[in-house]
Amino acid sequence: MNQSTSSKKEASTELSKLFGRKPPRFLSQLANAGIKKIEDLLWIFPYRFEVVPRLNSFAYASPGAKFIGIGKIYHVDKKPNRGFKKGNLSNATIRVLDQFNQDQNTLDLQFFNLYPSQLTRLAEANVILFYGEVGLFNGRKQIVNPEIISTDPTEEEIHILKKRSESLKPIYPTLNKVKPEQIRQVISLIPEQYWDQIPELVPANLLEKRNLLGYKKSLQILHAMVDATPEEKIRARDTLIYFEFFIEQIKLLVRRSIIRNKKIKPIKISQEQIEKCFKLFPFELTDDQKKVIQEISIDLDKAYSMMRLVQGDVGSGKTAVAIAIAFLLARNGYQFAYMCPTESLAQQHMESFFQILEPLGIKCHLITGQLKGKKRNEFLERLKSGEISVAIGTHALIVDDVKFKNLGMTVIDEQHKFGVEQRLKLTAKSKTEHCLIMTATPIPRSLSLSFYGDLDLSIIKSMPAQRKGIKSRIVTGETFQQFLSFLKTRIEMGEQAFIVVPAIEESEAMDMTNLNHSLERFAQYFPDLQLAGLHGKMKSDEKSEIVKRFSNKEIQILIATSVVEVGINIPNASVMAVLNPERFGLSSLHQLRGRVGRGDRPGFFFMVVDKKISQDSLERLKIIEETTDGFKIAESDLEIRGEGDLLGREQSGVGNQRRIANIVEHSSFLEMAREDATQLFETNQQFVQQSVQQYSNDPIVRLTI
Ligand code: ADP
Ligand code: MG
Repeated sequence: MNQSTSSKKEASTELSKLFGRKPPRFLSQLANAGIKKIEDLLWIFPYRFEVVPRLNSFAYASPGAKFIGIGKIYHVDKKPNRGFKKGNLSNATIRVLDQFNQDQNTLDLQFFNLYPSQLTRLAEANVILFYGEVGLFNGRKQIVNPEIISTDPTEEEIHILKKRSESLKPIYPTLNKVKPEQIRQVISLIPEQYWDQIPELVPANLLEKRNLLGYKKSLQILHAMVDATPEEKIRARDTLIYFEFFIEQIKLLVRRSIIRNKKIKPIKISQEQIEKCFKLFPFELTDDQKKVIQEISIDLDKAYSMMRLVQGDVGSGKTAVAIAIAFLLARNGYQFAYMCPTESLAQQHMESFFQILEPLGIKCHLITGQLKGKKRNEFLERLKSGEISVAIGTHALIVDDVKFKNLGMTVIDEQHKFGVEQRLKLTAKSKTEHCLIMTATPIPRSLSLSFYGDLDLSIIKSMPAQRKGIKSRIVTGETFQQFLSFLKTRIEMGEQAFIVVPAIEESEAMDMTNLNHSLERFAQYFPDLQLAGLHGKMKSDEKSEIVKRFSNKEIQILIATSVVEVGINIPNASVMAVLNPERFGLSSLHQLRGRVGRGDRPGFFFMVVDKKISQDSLERLKIIEETTDGFKIAESDLEIRGEGDLLGREQSGVGNQRRIANIVEHSSFLEMAREDATQLFETNQQFVQQSVQQYSNDPIVRLTI
């Protein structure tokens, strides 16, 4: 234990402490690349090694081979560099006389593009130690741009070098403009004692079971501090991948264990009530919807807070589930809060809740930024007294003076639109802290394992039965006219269309199709129709006015930015066309597509591309054309764009602390680590306690509590 705490202290030592009085400036560049502690340095691996010969006399410098030598400068031939834009750089040929055994051999060191400071340093030196590849020029041996190991080395330095045999020099990558040499320099400054004290965080029996090496051993192998066979090098790398997943899984388990240890009062829901809530709707709930409602009521009966993620494609009926839960809570004397990312969504949800719950005497109320003054005060009073059971709103719900009498659960719709802090603040308004997150972004197993552990996940896979489906097509220049006439036909049939553009105003990149431009363009194609624009920067009452007019069919074509992505429910809109679809992630396109074909008529989804699109982008869009399986699409997105695209910014930032392990490439290690960590947590109480202590302040752990 003692050992691990002391090396923990070492690990938080700023890198500057490795440098004595004058730390180099590139440390801040490293810090910007996330390299702040010694431990971070250990994870920068050389990608190859160079064999450095032993220090020798110039007679051993053979053309084509690397050579390390020591020479006395006896002639400097300096020429200004006249190349284009080279400023005050210069070239120099420095002739040196062998100092290894004073045999009078000479060698030319040819430097190009020297900075004045470098030139001065060389010109002022007497003896230099240099290293590089030997070449021939006009029959003379020379080294072009040699590395200067030191100028005027001490006797002792020379002595050590003379005794040393051939060695391996690690070649590091360039990181945030920090040169490989500089990285090598900092790493070489890590004290030996630090290496000795690297703690083993994965129990030895697990490493053995998985045929892996220790953490320290693996690091040493990858930095070539110990000899290893190629097979061992692979195992070392595998070990570190496993290690990263393992530690992450432990943190997730710690998070779960902390949640489970905060005891709360269970909410008992009778089977009779559940049966009743199934019958609230004018339609039959799907089996998946019923299953999720059951799962949640089981959660409510537990003595710890629920933290459940419900994922289901757009239109799978998540809102109906939320309504059912609100009913159950209200019947048991609890309030319910539902937070949406936009006002128009909140408005729509409010209508859905109101329709089902008000006739049963369950009071619902909308709270957005629009609710002000006296009306707001009145609302606050009624919420505090418990008269209002269901509050539906935007982040206006989070404000401090919004207080509940007995909040039983909060639901966050489309969590990735909110910050973690916002969610925690809302959840904290209830004593139970039950939190349900609903998302239409399907999360591939590897991502959910690594981000949520297997923390309570409900999936709604089946879609309500009478859906007519969606057809998706890529529209190119050749088929554009066909697309226009198709659009016209659907509108003549009384249906409506969305046209989605990626940018808002001209201030964005020049080549982006902007909303106003598209509005004009489509108004020209369809002079007899009503068109309107909708974007995120409009005032919210303007927005809801337009959504209302669209919903009342006063507008036939709505040209919008991706504000329509989340949850706008216009069953009569059957066509959507996305312009410049390559600017969207696949999951976003899939979400957008979910806006059409919601009624009992089929939906049509067009991706309108222009000539400039790359073959790669076109291939990606074909995935959308070919499948409506949100999971498949999310998997592809994960492969193409990485996890940040699927989780929100904040979440993915916290989740992705891994350095080499990648959930797509290394999912088998993730599964192993998951299994091992879970088993260890179930069987070793001491390990659990130790881990809770060690990680309780880690961002991953704090994310959900
Ligand atoms: P989501 O929130 O998952 O996108 P919604 O809950 O908004 O989906 O449901 C989309 C539409 O389908 C709504 O109009 C809703 O009334 C309807 N719906 C929900 N569940 C069912 C069902 N089981 N059968 C038929 N229609 C349903
Ligand atoms: Mg919804």
